[in-house]
Amino acid sequence: MDKERQIIHMDQDAFFVSVEIRKNPKLLGKPVIIGGGGDRGVVASCSYEARQYGIHSAMPGRTAKLLCPQAIFLKGDMEEYSKASHDITEIIADKVPLFEKASIDEHYIDMTGMDRFFGCMKFASELRQNIIKEMGLPISFGLSINKTVAKIATNESKPDGERQVTFPELRPFLDPLAIHKIPGIGHATYKKLSEMGVREILTLTQIPQQLMFKILGQHGLSLWQKANGIDLSPVVPYRERKSIGTQATFESDTMDMAKLKAIITGMVTGLTFQLRNQKKLTACITVTVRYTNFETVTQQERIPYTSLDSFLISKAHSLFEKVYAKRMLLRLVGVKLSHLVSGYEQIGLYNVAEEEYSLYQAMDKVRNHYGAEAVVKACIVTQPPRDETGKIIKYNPRKKKILIENKPEEEQQEVKKRSKIRSFMSEKGTIGTKSYD
Ligand SMILES: [Mg+2]
Repeated sequence: MDKERQIIHMDQDAFFVSVEIRKNPKLLGKPVIIGGGGDRGVVASCSYEARQYGIHSAMPGRTAKLLCPQAIFLKGDMEEYSKASHDITEIIADKVPLFEKASIDEHYIDMTGMDRFFGCMKFASELRQNIIKEMGLPISFGLSINKTVAKIATNESKPDGERQVTFPELRPFLDPLAIHKIPGIGHATYKKLSEMGVREILTLTQIPQQLMFKILGQHGLSLWQKANGIDLSPVVPYRERKSIGTQATFESDTMDMAKLKAIITGMVTGLTFQLRNQKKLTACITVTVRYTNFETVTQQERIPYTSLDSFLISKAHSLFEKVYAKRMLLRLVGVKLSHLVSGYEQIGLYNVAEEEYSLYQAMDKVRNHYGAEAVVKACIVTQPPRDETGKIIKYNPRKKKILIENKPEEEQQEVKKRSKIRSFMSEKGTIGTKSYD
């Protein structure tokens, strides 16, 4: 264990709500809920006052209303929250050499080795005051020997607090805490452990490592380490944040707009699926085209943090229209999502109805089981073959083999994959058994 590390975790208090209060101070001290409006919305964020009624993010707005009828529901403004988020990052970037933006309102700062020049606690405290003054938004921080303990310290000091946990204070600090205070402990894991009578971190540390592995696998080992105050994960610098992207080179160059847009739609859906799977949001989208003469052009746009298909597809299409200025044949298109941070619940901010929210979750679940292409938008599925009269040619299983064999290798794979998915879906009764190919 590296006792010498000095890691700060900074986290805005009820970030979205605080931005709303800054705009309208009358909201201070009231149960405020962002998102979850209308009949079927989902709560994206809520004030500490609302949390006292048992309200939390991702809860259906209806339930929140039942728990606290006097709550104030706001639509939320992701654009404004994203701007505040970037401003906070700027302030931090100005003051420290090594930091990581972990989510829309959280940063880790590695101050290791700096404490000879500044006192780390004094430095963090001043930085916090700086952010409060410049942003007019409340923030808390924890300072400790690694990311996990620093984050727990922040959460324990919230709201509007600061807390240092030095190496000798580690055990007295962690031992009495409930196990659900360990970052990353899921609901199912929490339930399993508490059913075993493990409720405090101290008890968790007393379970042999091998047993934790037997019960919960790798995740169990990582939990055991966190409970013991062990976390070697580094602070990943801001500029090295990963992006995700995809591109396609066409076999024959094309300028078929409908086809190109459908391809882009397919690319974005694939990327947002990855994004949501990693519980991440993006704040920047890039579209690249390469003309038949190899000239390559890209267009990039900063966007409010999101992981939603509908928003990103329309952005990608409008960027594509902008970047595809020459009406010339294209040999490649590509889409990239960058400036990634952790987050998922913000999905509720885009006025997404509960049905759409669960639709995304259901689609992602199917894709996790059967591959990213198991569920796709209808517009990117190839149209069924038709005869001269325009009638759809009926699927004939006996002819299928010959049909496939005549196609190029890649297409053969694709057809095989699709028919596998289709037969699964039919079995489960998800789509009708009447299908064509
Ligand atoms: Mg926060």
